Amino acid sequence: MRIAMIGTGYVGLVSGACFADFGHQVTCVDKDESKIAALHRGEIPIFEPGLDALVATNVKAKRLDFTTDLKQPVADADAVFIAVGTPSRRGDGHADLTYVYAAAREIAASLTGFTVVVTKSTVPVGTGDEVERIIRETNPAADVVVASNPEFLREGAAIRDFKWPDRIVVGTDDERGRKVLGDIYRPLSLNQAPVMYTARRTAELIKYAANAFLATKITFINEVADLAEKVGADVQEVARGIGLDNRIGSKFLHAGPGFGGSCFPKDTRALIKIAQDYDTQLRIVESVLAVNDNRKRAMARKVAHAVGGNLRGKTVAVLGLTFKPETDDMREAPSIPLVTGLLDMGAKVRAHDPVGIEQAKKELPEIAYYDDPYDCATGADAIVLVTEWVQYRAMDLDRLKQVMASPVVVDLRNVYRPEEMAAHGFVYESVGRPSVT
Ligand code: NAD
Repeated sequence: MRIAMIGTGYVGLVSGACFADFGHQVTCVDKDESKIAALHRGEIPIFEPGLDALVATNVKAKRLDFTTDLKQPVADADAVFIAVGTPSRRGDGHADLTYVYAAAREIAASLTGFTVVVTKSTVPVGTGDEVERIIRETNPAADVVVASNPEFLREGAAIRDFKWPDRIVVGTDDERGRKVLGDIYRPLSLNQAPVMYTARRTAELIKYAANAFLATKITFINEVADLAEKVGADVQEVARGIGLDNRIGSKFLHAGPGFGGSCFPKDTRALIKIAQDYDTQLRIVESVLAVNDNRKRAMARKVAHAVGGNLRGKTVAVLGLTFKPETDDMREAPSIPLVTGLLDMGAKVRAHDPVGIEQAKKELPEIAYYDDPYDCATGADAIVLVTEWVQYRAMDLDRLKQVMASPVVVDLRNVYRPEEMAAHGFVYESVGRPSVT
């Protein structure tokens, strides 16, 4: 199969490289010339574990290449995937579809022969209809099927998720379209690839419903964590106690600073807007979003509480800035409102992150950055552990205590055990567990 992947970001580059690895002929297209130039030099513009080797192998095998010009790859393709960004539109929270529609228009002009145009970007219900309308308007002669194939990969584990997915959702009623997408995903599995065929609108809704459900699970356990703190219970054990029930499941029950990242916040916002457009109210999702928004600044108040109530003039060392480990992605990271809250309360903030510092500097230019977590902690009045990078999971606690001005640790990911921190003489606060003073 010949594939053109339009948009070479976290989703497009991983999907393109994995399809090439399945044996397909893939061209990844991006408007961003610097991205394509970097890829031509053999550099990967994002941090995603294993992606450099996967791209290098497939480029060497001549199954994967890169360009800024979609004309030829689209003309040659059996399937064209749209994997451009769909950020929140400024002001109202709707998904911004400008990039998707611009891509559809450009693709339409270059189509030749039968082609399946596949929306991989996360898009509101009905976007496929509009993509199809744009293509037919721009190129009435095109022999095209427009399908939805939402992506469920997680940054940090993207290659594994793409190659061993729980399911693949293919949204089209057209048999030719189903066959092309079935053939593209067939190498995934020796038996039956876990492909679920649905109507296009259903596929579009599955993606938003999945993300909203996961965001709900996180927010639910975060609220239970707040209650656990008040009643003297341990939320980790509550999560385990409920998660062992198969009807609930143990994933996404880890209490923390609130969800962030490139998908959950924007997708819950967009889903609420879709529902409003269709005169329906998703009250649970609305609450999830509101609770989560409040939580981020509440985390700054938690830090203030740990240092005795007043952050003015205090130095706070933040460990971990990216929205989760194993990515350099800073989009809507919980660290951003947290740091802003700390600054608002008069703290001096410094930070360390294993790979996210360059991205973080764009979002948080006013803080000091360190290349080493112990240097970052030196002289600090408190450490806040925000992202549970593996580098922070077994720190030398005696050394930390020695270099800090006062031994206060606020662990927003429950990485350490309260008894252990008490034994090392720390003032320790975590999420939904007893604090140590
Ligand atoms: P991204 O911002 O990393 O990448 C998008 C890329 O598209 C950019 O490189 C941009 O330059 C390029 N682009 C925009 N318009 C273009 C055009 N007309 N032609 C060619 N290139 C163009 O975004 P992402 O994180 O990869 O997300 C892409 C989509 O996938 C979004 O809808 C997102 O919601 C969805 N998604 C993301 C994830 C994730 O973990 N990041 C997971 C599942 C789904």
